[in-house]
Amino acid sequence: MNKKSIKRFHTLFFILPIFLVTIIIFQISYNLNTISVNANVNWDNWVVENESKKYIKWVDFTPTFEVLDKTSKLDIDSHTNDEDIKLNWIELISFLACKYGGDFKRFNQKDLNSLIDNLRSGKTMEELTKKYKNYSYFYEAYDAVLHEFIGDFETESTDDSGNKTYIKKYGIKAYLPIASNYSFSHYDDFGNSRSYGYKRVHLGNDLMGSIGTPIIAVESGIVECLGWNQYGGWRIGIRSFDNKRYYYYAHLRKDRPYAENLSEGQIVTAGDVIGYLGMTGYSIKENVNNINVPHLHFGIQLIFDESQKDGVNQIWIDVYQIIEFLRKHKSEVYRNTDTYEFYRKNKIIDPSIPREKYVYGTY
Ligand SMILES: [Zn+2]
Repeated sequence: MNKKSIKRFHTLFFILPIFLVTIIIFQISYNLNTISVNANVNWDNWVVENESKKYIKWVDFTPTFEVLDKTSKLDIDSHTNDEDIKLNWIELISFLACKYGGDFKRFNQKDLNSLIDNLRSGKTMEELTKKYKNYSYFYEAYDAVLHEFIGDFETESTDDSGNKTYIKKYGIKAYLPIASNYSFSHYDDFGNSRSYGYKRVHLGNDLMGSIGTPIIAVESGIVECLGWNQYGGWRIGIRSFDNKRYYYYAHLRKDRPYAENLSEGQIVTAGDVIGYLGMTGYSIKENVNNINVPHLHFGIQLIFDESQKDGVNQIWIDVYQIIEFLRKHKSEVYRNTDTYEFYRKNKIIDPSIPREKYVYGTY
């Protein structure tokens, strides 16, 4: 080896390790960076099979009554007063969810005020939520819950000469599941443990009331399930037209659980009488009262992909705050004195019901 080649060897000996170490450091920092970017997105709540099939696998519905109440009023007022900037309560709630990391106990009126000020000054929700990577998750999750709670509808009214007319409205169009003028009590019992059958948790809200209380369809939809279920007793399952919500009404009255002629596949309109409160269930044998306190078990299941409807991947949300919110909108009923059957007093036309499906309905 001459002097020159020894020098070249030395150079290589020093440079090569530096080069390799640089590559390794670069690689590690790139990986860490990728991980931290992903950590900001709520990937835990999403299932991504491929780009075309990405759906939510878990939702905790945590907005409080106060937040639902305030944002709904802002939304409705901005529409009924035909303000230039129309507010969307689902967007407002989703923004707040990002700000509080889903913990609405941290709600501060100032945050809502400044959001409204920004929107009214012409800023878009897209601009205001750029920094929030979870915004699209929260929006999709909350929209799946509240999609048909506020919107356009028409209410029936009778003019001075006795003719029925329909008046266009914008407002709350989902109803409390308990008819107007019937009392009930409840507390937030979601997730409590239940011992009948096997160890499981309570996936709804129990509304304690008297037997025979008319039960009201919260949202318009298709009766998907009707009949006896070991746990729920006489129960009704109603699916929303966008397929994302499955409403579950259980423990209905012995002998006469359902509104007359109610059948699977039938269309019901929000506010219709669908059945009667009772105490059936917890029995393999049909038409048995086996629960102690008469109540309606009410639940909402979210379905982003049909694989979530049955089995172990079900998403049921805590509806306690929703029930509190729906106290504002009750369906008035009257009783046919011959048949003892109850009917709604005030009909509505709900545009969420596909026009061609009205043949089954009340119109
Ligand atoms: Zn229950």
